[in-house]
Amino acid sequence: MQLKNKVAIVTGAKQGIGLGIALALAKAGCHVAVCDVDLAGCKKAAEKIKKLKVKSLAVACDVSKKADVDNLISQTIKKFGRLDILVNNAGIYPFVPFAKMTQADWDKVQDVNLKGAFLCSQAAVKKMKAGGKIVNISSIASLIGFEGLVHYCASKSGINGMTRALALELASKKINVNAVAPGAIETPGATVTMTKDAKQGTIAAIPWGRMGTPDDIAQACVFLTSDKSDYITGQVLVVDGGWILR
Ligand code: NAP
Repeated sequence: MQLKNKVAIVTGAKQGIGLGIALALAKAGCHVAVCDVDLAGCKKAAEKIKKLKVKSLAVACDVSKKADVDNLISQTIKKFGRLDILVNNAGIYPFVPFAKMTQADWDKVQDVNLKGAFLCSQAAVKKMKAGGKIVNISSIASLIGFEGLVHYCASKSGINGMTRALALELASKKINVNAVAPGAIETPGATVTMTKDAKQGTIAAIPWGRMGTPDDIAQACVFLTSDKSDYITGQVLVVDGGWILR
């Protein structure tokens, strides 16, 4: 699928699913602005992207802060002159039992996962023309429950609702808004605290018999940011190796 000379922003893209999406978009011909909280990490990712013969930009940005987000969008426009694609990937998933969950725990997860997607989408839409594409990275936790992730499940269900409502508002501008809901994907964030037993248990729950890779999610994003999906909007595409089919 070709995205030649399109300009994309991917948030939370120094590692994991975000980096996988940034690389896949670059392989399809996109110029990519990499955003993450850590500038050194962004720069490393931007170097990898440049090796794919497209342009890249590294911008430090905490997606929950409006000033950072406005700077991300203006840096992107300054460098590339346009914005076609936004992938709202930045997200956190700290496990906390509900009884011990503090207001601060709750607010932090909503701020990054939900408000971050709101701030980035609102700022990006102002610069997008017809043919613009927004992809929100949701989770199967938006559709089924997970112990210790009440705040996270709520934030990702919020992403699905936001995806549908924003898709409605932007349909007349011919801007698509969709979500991808990953299952268990091998990333630094997901596997850092996972024991060998927990990993075996996770794999046993997945009909496809393996955890997903960042590229499994990235390929869905390439499709949803290409003109092959122009008539698809407001949808949540589950990419989970069949986990939630049982
Ligand atoms: P990851 O390995 O932790 O990578 C996420 C990246 O986002 C990290 O570089 C992180 O930086 C960055 N980030 C965190 N807060 C940010 C903020 N406020 N502003 C900008 N960047 C921020 O996570 P991942 O597993 O790739 O997950 C990526 C997305 O997929 C998330 O939205 C997650 O909810 C979703 N997802 C993941 C899975 C999975 O199994 N991996 C499943 C379903 C959905 P730091 O490392 O410095 O925090």
